[in-house]
Amino acid sequence: MISLAALSVAYAGGRRALDGVDLSIAPGERVALIGPSGAGKTTLLRVMGANLRPTGGQLQLDGLDPWALNARQLQGLRGRVGKMYQAPPIPPRQRVITAVLAGRLGQWPLWRAVASLIYPLDIDGARAALAPFDLAERLFDRCDQLSGGQLQRVALARLFYQQPQLVLADEPVSALDPTLARSVAVALNEDAKRRGATLIASLHAVELALSEFSRVIGLREGRIVFDRPAAQLGVADIEALYAGVPYASAPEAHNPDAPSARPRLTRCA
Ligand code: ADP
Ligand code: MG
Repeated sequence: MISLAALSVAYAGGRRALDGVDLSIAPGERVALIGPSGAGKTTLLRVMGANLRPTGGQLQLDGLDPWALNARQLQGLRGRVGKMYQAPPIPPRQRVITAVLAGRLGQWPLWRAVASLIYPLDIDGARAALAPFDLAERLFDRCDQLSGGQLQRVALARLFYQQPQLVLADEPVSALDPTLARSVAVALNEDAKRRGATLIASLHAVELALSEFSRVIGLREGRIVFDRPAAQLGVADIEALYAGVPYASAPEAHNPDAPSARPRLTRCA
């Protein structure tokens, strides 16, 4: 359970990235965060992953204030959260197997984590995690030999290997072509559904948010504009969320394959 009350984040320099956010997310919910660039989506995900300390309000993760924990407990909590990004932060020279096994580094005792960096200890587990993504054959390849789409599937395999109860994904499909983007979004949702895990993902592709996620939160200028089941959102809600957004920060400006600068609304009739 994640709960935020009157939560704010002001970065150094005084800019308020989150401004009085009230939110609670129950275990097993699958939530999409949408909103223009600069709305606060990344900041919100970093707060929920206990990677960024809020400057105001209350945060509770499973009933605990993460910032009241000691350093070791806080590290343990972060290790139980699965994260995904637009481009996976995988060292290029790392082998695929090491990247996948890193999913459990936070759960293993130190000796095992260190040993695993030297010699992969769970080859079968890594192979099984990669199999659904047609990457089992690439187990011992270096990550810099893979395409962006394959790398993102390695990041998914790592997540599936980790089996975290909370997955925070920041623009996990923004760098992928539309077909691959949908398949990655579907895979994330299917995995969360199957395991009863909580999934929270920020997305530029509005139609993916509406078609794949059960709950959609619209953020703008650090505030929640709407927080509703996808089925209860219409074109007008989406257009209002993105109204007046200049070209440079509109969602599709980040996606070279996109036909226009406006959010795609095809699934939003
Ligand atoms: P989004 O992910 O929705 O694009 P962010 O959470 O990245 O939004 O940013 C929210 C606001 O906070 C923006 O105005 C952004 O410029 C500002 N911001 C983000 N990160 C920092 C930072 N490290 N230092 C100062 N300002 C930041
Ligand atoms: Mg962001």
